[in-house]
Amino acid sequence: MKTLSPIKRRKILESVAEIRGMVVDMRLVFIGPPGVGKGTYAKMISTKYGIPHLSTGDIFREEISKGSELGLKVKYYVEKGLLVPDDIVIGIVRKVLKSPECERGFILDGFPRTIKQAEELDKITTLDAALLFEAPLQTIIERVSGRLVCPNCGAIYNISWKPPKKPGVCDVCGSVLVKRKDDDPEVIRARYETYRQTFSPVIEYYRSKGMLIEVYSAREAAEVVTEVEKILRERKIIK
Ligand code: AMP
Repeated sequence: MKTLSPIKRRKILESVAEIRGMVVDMRLVFIGPPGVGKGTYAKMISTKYGIPHLSTGDIFREEISKGSELGLKVKYYVEKGLLVPDDIVIGIVRKVLKSPECERGFILDGFPRTIKQAEELDKITTLDAALLFEAPLQTIIERVSGRLVCPNCGAIYNISWKPPKKPGVCDVCGSVLVKRKDDDPEVIRARYETYRQTFSPVIEYYRSKGMLIEVYSAREAAEVVTEVEKILRERKIIK
């Protein structure tokens, strides 16, 4: 099955959101440990409100699978669960946020991960909020070990609680689902450790600006998203 280009897909999402009377203009970052569900929540909110979901991890994985110059530069870091150097990540985010697709907002997933990235992001755009999703390591390992992703359209499944209708095949576009290389339990522990060691300054950065919204995420994705929407409404980010 042929998939839509990101621009066409976005236009359709925007029209659907407009029909539903939910056009918003929001600039959010989703942060939290790997495997906490950020990508799933971001996708749900992005689809409902017609704003793009930008995952730096997805961008890197795509470039690696294409074998591009960027892909070759970041492969080592991504497959080991290490942080890609700031200048590479910041350059990409700067370019993407300047594209017309992001005019009416975005959800950045997995960025920023360092203070340098957070500071540079503030020079590029004005954020409305930073959402921090938290869950215990055990919950994360259970979730990640069953995760399957579609390499074509990015849909995310879980063999235990969100299996595809046909085993191993994407419900949306019919592509063969894959396990992410960095979802191996050993790599996930390394990524979690990297997160713990490097992330507290970023959390404090947003907390000190009064922009941090903490969301407990060891529960159903729909419940998490409902709470996020409620908070964004209270803060008048969704009107
Ligand atoms: P994610 O899917 O967000 O867990 O990202 C997968 C991998 O991509 C990470 O383990 C890093 O190697 C790399 N990566 C993604 N976002 C960033 C970032 N903001 N800074 C540095 N490395 C990143």
